[in-house]
Amino acid sequence: MQTQTNQPVTPLDAAAIRADFPILNQDPGPDRKPLVFLDSAASSQKPAVVIEALDDYHRRYNANIHRGVYQLSELATGRYEQARHLVADFIGAASHRECVFVRNTTEAINLVAQTWGRRNIRVGDLIVLTVMEHHSNLVPWQILAEETGAELAHVRLTPDGRLDLDHLDDLLARDPKLVAFTHVSNSLGTLVDAAEISRRARAAGAAVLIDGAQSVPHLPVDVRQLDCDFLAFSGHKMLAPMGSGVLYGKKALLEAMPPYMGGGSMIRKVELTRSTWADVPAKFEAGTPAVGDAIGLGAAVEYLNALGMDWVREHERDVVGYALERLVEVPGMTLYGPLDPAARSGVVSFNLGDIHPHDVAAILDGENVAVRAGHHCTQPLMRELGVVATTRASFYIYNTREDVDRLVEALHVANRIFGLA
Ligand code: PLP
Repeated sequence: MQTQTNQPVTPLDAAAIRADFPILNQDPGPDRKPLVFLDSAASSQKPAVVIEALDDYHRRYNANIHRGVYQLSELATGRYEQARHLVADFIGAASHRECVFVRNTTEAINLVAQTWGRRNIRVGDLIVLTVMEHHSNLVPWQILAEETGAELAHVRLTPDGRLDLDHLDDLLARDPKLVAFTHVSNSLGTLVDAAEISRRARAAGAAVLIDGAQSVPHLPVDVRQLDCDFLAFSGHKMLAPMGSGVLYGKKALLEAMPPYMGGGSMIRKVELTRSTWADVPAKFEAGTPAVGDAIGLGAAVEYLNALGMDWVREHERDVVGYALERLVEVPGMTLYGPLDPAARSGVVSFNLGDIHPHDVAAILDGENVAVRAGHHCTQPLMRELGVVATTRASFYIYNTREDVDRLVEALHVANRIFGLA
């Protein structure tokens, strides 16, 4: 599949897509089976076009941006800003100025907590989160609540791992200042009806922040349709280099927020004792940014656009549906999250009897099936599930039904080793 054609592949041809990913085409060595990579929820692999975009930047036009009045710097600035336009279009932002480049989702959420939060949250104010948040969407609000005296409340889950919308309504009746929630749970795979939650939250007068770390890479996301105030996501989970991330914010809100960090690039005028700020988004991009990584993110967005995000979603729905069907056959299997593939994204968490997830993952690694084991940065959710950890398989555009078969075979190996089957 070549991105240059700009022709959406319909439907997605995962086998052809795989050819674009050098890491998936390595020789595994004489004693290893071919790699099945099922950890894209942690970080996706990178297609050649992204690797080449990064390489090209460093080889041909590496320079600091925005201030250089010479050709290399102008070229780098142009590509960096072009990436911002691509990202803005990708998420349906009204303007590229609404997209701030940050390092990752974590930084984006901390930025909002420490700027919008400090300006708008007062003692006694309520911030509504959910029980299934990643630590990145819990801890920044805990820090803010500690500083301001605000209160935190968490939407409960239904038994099959969805958000309890009646409980949300109860919390909304208490007039929260902010509702911040994940669009897709990185541990359960649950796909949240973000537009509906956003609608209810706004009707209650709350600001809305969506953690899009697991949604923007996997399904069409449109900030105007979601009508959210903020959306945070990471480039490295959507084919781009580590070090690239985005905070989307409505322009009027970003303009009203104080800066996060002070320094070069974010200023208009500096005097010895006071300064004024640059326009958004530069106001939030202090210091030298990760220029090559942002350009790589632009290349990743072009690659995903060429596939078509509707097809990305359809493909994952198919692979996850097949995974759910096959996994229930494995003796000792406990699956977490909704069993309906339409209600989840490309993440499947499970436990196998009482085998520790780290042991499961180590045995799977012996079969060259790469999965993650642990609390997945969702310790409160693990407590809610009554487990210390799960094994998590996560799927993306390059995964196939054959990868699911390899996963299931490897789980049978784990069961044999532990005498479960
Ligand atoms: N939110 C969710 C739902 C995630 O899955 C992750 C990462 O796994 C994050 C936030 C944090 O992302 P990052 O480590 O790129 O900041």
